[in-house]
Amino acid sequence: MNDVFSLADELGPLKIIHIHEPGIGLKGVLVVDNVAKGPSIGGVRMAPDVTTEECVRLARAMTFKNAAAGLPHGGGKAVLIGDPKMPKQEKEILIRGFANALKEVEQYIFAPDMGTDEECMAWVKDEIGRVVGLPREIGGIPLDEIGATGWGLSHVVDVALEFTDINIKGARIAVQGFGAVGKNVSKFLTKDGAILVAVSDSTGTIYNPEGLDVEKLTALKSEGKSVTDYPDGDKHERDAIIDIECDIWIPAARPDVIYEDNVHRLNTKMVVEGANIPITHAAEKILHDKGILCVPDFIANAGGVICAAMEYQAASQSAAFATIEEKLRRNTREVLQTAKREKIFPREAALAMARKRIDKAMSFRRWNIF
Ligand code: NAD
Repeated sequence: MNDVFSLADELGPLKIIHIHEPGIGLKGVLVVDNVAKGPSIGGVRMAPDVTTEECVRLARAMTFKNAAAGLPHGGGKAVLIGDPKMPKQEKEILIRGFANALKEVEQYIFAPDMGTDEECMAWVKDEIGRVVGLPREIGGIPLDEIGATGWGLSHVVDVALEFTDINIKGARIAVQGFGAVGKNVSKFLTKDGAILVAVSDSTGTIYNPEGLDVEKLTALKSEGKSVTDYPDGDKHERDAIIDIECDIWIPAARPDVIYEDNVHRLNTKMVVEGANIPITHAAEKILHDKGILCVPDFIANAGGVICAAMEYQAASQSAAFATIEEKLRRNTREVLQTAKREKIFPREAALAMARKRIDKAMSFRRWNIF
């Protein structure tokens, strides 16, 4: 019995639900972490190797992200064991089955994450209705297509620059990963005058100190090619992006790409975390001690979930963009000012800010976390 509670603390998780239906090969987990601020939002991740523990960590990250963003939502997360590239019919059966199994759990609102997309969310809507991240045709705001997270990141960069001597005009940026987040943050920042000197994807890095053309790179990716097929630049191996000399380094790919043993390779003045948990806490501390400003993930990349929460309220796309801008600018300024004033690193300031908001919400409840 103790094992079940080994991952529990004063914030949650409230519920861990394992779903198993051998008839359709369904194995999934839902973690509802904390709903003091409202029904939880967090994506459904499909991967062959996802675990309950990973789901618990991701649900907690959503509790902090949603609280920091000032949303009326707690944190939750769901994982489904399976290869996301499975045939569509099989995937549809799993998603529909999973949604049905969780029909009664009103404290969780389905959303897309790695391995699931808007079409999957449309199936969830058809089954149970409680979902965000839908296709536009049925009331969704397609957050990846419009670049909600990249838009938010560009505002975070703009505010964070006030705490450095870097000017966005001519600032050299390097972006790891050129998917929904990477290409959109590149688009918005280059529009503001930054120079994209390097990008990478899962196959390699392309570098040109004179600048890369975001539209041409995006066109290559939509043809199914790699950024290394870009003709006008030097090609390097995938992780060479870490060594590129730049002013702003933006991880927008995988978790845990920077850790204690490789953090010294970063040759930048500022890091803004587009990906989730891309840098270990120990490595963030090292960056801070070296005077490199690092804006943590759950502050910097909250544009996507803010957009999803706005969709749930039936808001328009332009209202979602305005809210992302307002919330992320305010949060970034508050976190960086607190970090500076109290001589702590930005993640500590961000966690304290989010925790204060969660504690306040919990204080209004008959029972703390639900
Ligand atoms: P995506 O699948 O659209 O793109 C991922 C990109 O990373 C692809 O270009 C892929 O080739 C590349 N990539 C994969 N492994 C790599 C590696 N080891 N090195 C370099 N590049 C690699 O995903 P996305 O939606 O852009 O999400 C990227 C990250 O941002 C994830 O960590 C995700 O959890 C996080 N995130 C996304 C959103 C969102 O709105 N989509 C919001 C918050 C956080």
